[in-house]
Amino acid sequence: MQKLVDGLHKFQSGFFQTHQELFRNLSKGQNPEALFITCSDSRINPNLITQTGPGDLFILRNAGNIVPPYGEEGGGEAATIEFAVTGLGVQHIVVCGHTLCGAMKGLLDPSKLDGTPMLKRWLEHAEPTRKFVTDNYAHLHGNAKITVMAEENVLAQIENLQTHPSVRARLEQGLLRIYGWVFKIETGEVFQYDPEGGQFNLISGPPGAAAAPDKLSAQVAI
Ligand SMILES: [Zn+2]
Repeated sequence: MQKLVDGLHKFQSGFFQTHQELFRNLSKGQNPEALFITCSDSRINPNLITQTGPGDLFILRNAGNIVPPYGEEGGGEAATIEFAVTGLGVQHIVVCGHTLCGAMKGLLDPSKLDGTPMLKRWLEHAEPTRKFVTDNYAHLHGNAKITVMAEENVLAQIENLQTHPSVRARLEQGLLRIYGWVFKIETGEVFQYDPEGGQFNLISGPPGAAAAPDKLSAQVAI
């Protein structure tokens, strides 16, 4: 815990001092660029990977970056989405899964969740994803299967997102866009779903950046 307290002191005497104007503006209200839905995993830092700061991202996190369909339990998610879309008028929603996700591992092997019954119940929201991956990717194992699970889960949660009336209305009005991302912890890369190509493609770095394989997994079946 000392690490956190030391960090507070460093923040207050450093970053805050040099960004007082920013915080003065933020004290008047917020106008975030996007609603960012991601996993609670400590290795994902939305502001770090997008190089954004205070006020830029309205963030919703839970185990497995899950969006329960509208009307089901999980009112916290629905309320957060509704406020971001209707209250703040965000025009972009990112659903960001990640490689090596513990929730996806648990989903693939529910026996590992016997000691965490609430988590087991929560992940039932992603049960269609588990069934789809089990049926269609039997040839994959280990981390490759977890990666496909993370990809398919992002797509399933985007479907769920569109059951929320506030989201559906803004989409129909052309006022909102939804993006499916997967963050690759091992390399720091982010892959975005391309609906036309049916796969996740690397979001390219700036010109001159090192070339890298541009597909996360070979093909995502949808
Ligand atoms: Zn995770």
